[in-house]
Amino acid sequence: MNLKILNPATGKIAATLPADDAKGVKAKYERARAAQPAWAKVRLKQRLAMIAKFRELVAADTERLARVLTTEVGKPISQARNELKGVLPRIDFFLEETAHALRTEKVSGAKGGAMVERISHEPLGVVANISAWNYPWFVGANVFIPALLAGNTVLYKPSEFASLTGVEIARLLHAAGIPQDVFVPVIGDGKAGAALLAQPVDGVFFTGSVGTGKKIAAALRGRMIKLQLELGGKDPIYVCEDVDVAKAASGIADGAFYNTGQSCCSVERIYVNAKVLERFVDAFVGEVRKFRRGDPGENSTYIGPLTRAPQLKVLEAQVKDAVRKGAKVLCGGKRVKSEGNWFEPTVLVDVDHSMAVMREESFGPIIGIMPAKSDAEAVRLMNDTDYGLTAGVYTPNRQRAEKILAQVKSGSVYWNCCDRVSPRLPWSGVGDSGIGLTLSTYGIETFTRPKAWHLRGG
Ligand code: NAD
Repeated sequence: MNLKILNPATGKIAATLPADDAKGVKAKYERARAAQPAWAKVRLKQRLAMIAKFRELVAADTERLARVLTTEVGKPISQARNELKGVLPRIDFFLEETAHALRTEKVSGAKGGAMVERISHEPLGVVANISAWNYPWFVGANVFIPALLAGNTVLYKPSEFASLTGVEIARLLHAAGIPQDVFVPVIGDGKAGAALLAQPVDGVFFTGSVGTGKKIAAALRGRMIKLQLELGGKDPIYVCEDVDVAKAASGIADGAFYNTGQSCCSVERIYVNAKVLERFVDAFVGEVRKFRRGDPGENSTYIGPLTRAPQLKVLEAQVKDAVRKGAKVLCGGKRVKSEGNWFEPTVLVDVDHSMAVMREESFGPIIGIMPAKSDAEAVRLMNDTDYGLTAGVYTPNRQRAEKILAQVKSGSVYWNCCDRVSPRLPWSGVGDSGIGLTLSTYGIETFTRPKAWHLRGG
């Protein structure tokens, strides 16, 4: 059984990879299960040294790895390089923080009493890491690095659209000393993912769409294992009337169109205080028109193809639905007639919440802008969603921003920035954006089970 990897810029086959069938997945699970107790006994210092070596190998090969990523997901090469360079400080964060986050804590007994209480962090066991294609280095590393450091063995299923990168990740981890049975790649599409869930794993860490996330939650119903789902978003930004309009338009256009709009935290809805709506829209469209669409292998390209061909139909349907209900297309609005999966950068105005473009994740280079009469109305509109991954406010007034952001139901909130992830802060979602978290020290502990020790002396 082979997996075909298509180049999204051309639609042509870029590579084929041998894929795992259900029998192969079971055999891989058994290897990971057998290897786990010995891996948990390896000293943390040694595990940290292997991950530090992995970091070194990634840093030494950034350009080639970025090219692999561009070939299979169509990410413009400058943005692929940014992802490779950006994963290094994330790895550093885990290298610096894991020993402290996983230390055994003595929580009482200091006063000389006979009872000692302490908490140790035990690995979950064998964990499944089912991953997305849009940032395979970022969303992969958020899971497999702390999971391995905490003493788990990992069955890692990259997306079928980013499997060449998945194979590279496995090769470099193994070259860094992580045993073959401790980090085990599972190659294939959703069927391989489902076969993985059929194994008696101890934890499932998923990054992907809400549709698949719900299927996974249903498939695991009744199983007493840890489940984390990092899902999509419909992330809003509110622009206040007191902003520097040109600066805000430039920052938000980047937040909406970077990675061709295919980030979980892409800006997907913009609300602008009615007093500056016209000026903001003019400046925003000016920014979008400057984006260079073209060969993702060229340094100057900003907008690439969509990674998945079926998403073209989703975007077309969103534009059609919006226009039918009264929206106006200010630029773009249609697919590009050429080979590969190309869609024009698209800006819509006169939109409202009856339209799919303001309610459903677009995951492409398309955005709707609508007015808000007041801060209160902006809060109401921002919260009128099933999702809750990120939300932001642009204003020079910090007090005003914090007052608004405190009322927004969202895992992350931004003041004068957007489309941003920090390894030091937890990454989580509200509602359909998921359950559980990665990153921060909480995102290290999450790969462990706290064990409570009650010790009575003599
Ligand atoms: P997807 O749901 O199509 O696929 C994700 C993974 O699930 C793939 O590896 C796929 O093979 C696997 N899969 C599919 N069906 C399965 C099944 N029945 N059982 C087990 N596994 C199965 O998502 P995608 O297109 O790869 O990623 C895009 C989505 O991911 C967007 O919605 C985006 O917002 C979201 N995302 C979220 C975050 C976050 O941190 N919240 C980060 C990146 C991407």
